[in-house]
Amino acid sequence: MTTAMNSKDTEYDVVVVGAGAAGLSAALLLGRARRKVVVVDAGAPRNAPAAHMHGFLSRDGLPPATLLELGRAEIERYGVRFVRGRVEEVEPGFAVRLEGGPVLGARRLLVATGLYDELPAIPGVRERWGKDVLHCPYCHGHEVGDQPLGVLGTHPGAVHQALLLRQWSDDVVLLTHTLDLTPEDRDRLEARGVRIVEGPIDHLVVEDGRLRGVELTDGRVLPRAAVFLFPRMVPQDQVLTRLGCDKDDAGWVVTDRTGRTSVPGVWAAGNVVDPRAQVVTAAGTGSAAASAVNADLVDEEVRDAVERRRATSVLAR
Ligand SMILES: Cc1cc2nc3c(=O)[nH]c(=O)nc-3n(C[C@H](O)[C@H](O)[C@H](O)COP(=O)(O)OP(=O)(O)OC[C@H]3O[C@@H](n4cnc5c(N)ncnc54)[C@H](O)[C@@H]3O)c2cc1C
Repeated sequence: MTTAMNSKDTEYDVVVVGAGAAGLSAALLLGRARRKVVVVDAGAPRNAPAAHMHGFLSRDGLPPATLLELGRAEIERYGVRFVRGRVEEVEPGFAVRLEGGPVLGARRLLVATGLYDELPAIPGVRERWGKDVLHCPYCHGHEVGDQPLGVLGTHPGAVHQALLLRQWSDDVVLLTHTLDLTPEDRDRLEARGVRIVEGPIDHLVVEDGRLRGVELTDGRVLPRAAVFLFPRMVPQDQVLTRLGCDKDDAGWVVTDRTGRTSVPGVWAAGNVVDPRAQVVTAAGTGSAAASAVNADLVDEEVRDAVERRRATSVLAR
């Protein structure tokens, strides 16, 4: 049965939308601050295709799902409610409607819904994404170091990626595919020892469940142990845009340093507002946003208490 939007099932201090590193870190801080909090999560974190997560101090190499399981157990210890579901719509005030009907009332909203990696339509890319088709040298460079690596020229960011990857391997090839390299790009790549292979890519060669190389449309096959590409990163920011949050020229919702958006009462953290955030930084922004949300609630509570006190003293006169 669908619940009417104005009949709030439960009123929370904060509804956190998204339970990746950003949302869970926010919920942990708010739960420890004795706030009434619910976290709603659709269950599709960005790094789910990867077997291991790297670069998170003290958790390096942990499976991504394990970090989130540990996080959910920690927030539940402080009485934070976790709901598996998708937020469909939020009305100002806030009434947070979940897919299927339930509506949660919230004094504040913290959105940590991540981003979506739009991959190029090269056969084999989606199948091997997060395994030996990669995007982040800091996340996976160490694991594929000293092997033949390729960078797929599907995005202007590929040049920087190839320059960067030379730190991890002496054998880095940039396959130009659809990318037009400037003479300056070529100079820089060649000076850095990156080989350039011209021509469109036909497909990735995958055998026995692993990447073997890249086949070009002219039939050449370039053996590679792993390839990197720069996906088009699309923020999953529908909740924020429908509430009217301001965006920058590149199309990303704007926040201040605490994650506060242009809409009063709405904060955002992690990849939904910052494509560069890795797990540890997403967690940091979630935590910072949570303390700002709590301070905002305290301000409101103090304001209300002062007004009540003044009203009582006027009555008593
Ligand atoms: C293949 C791959 C490997 C990576 N490896 C690493 C690594 O080794 N180290 C590292 O630091 N970083 C890595 N990253 C980056 C990492 O995934 C991000 O930094 C991190 O996931 C950002 O956390 P987040 O909380 O912002 O978003 P996410 O982890 O993506 O979490 C967002 C959550 O919000 C949910 N959601 C979205 N919309 C809604 C909605 N409307 N209602 C309810 N829930 C919703 C999603 O289902 C998801 O669970 C990797 C990325 C990829 C693609």
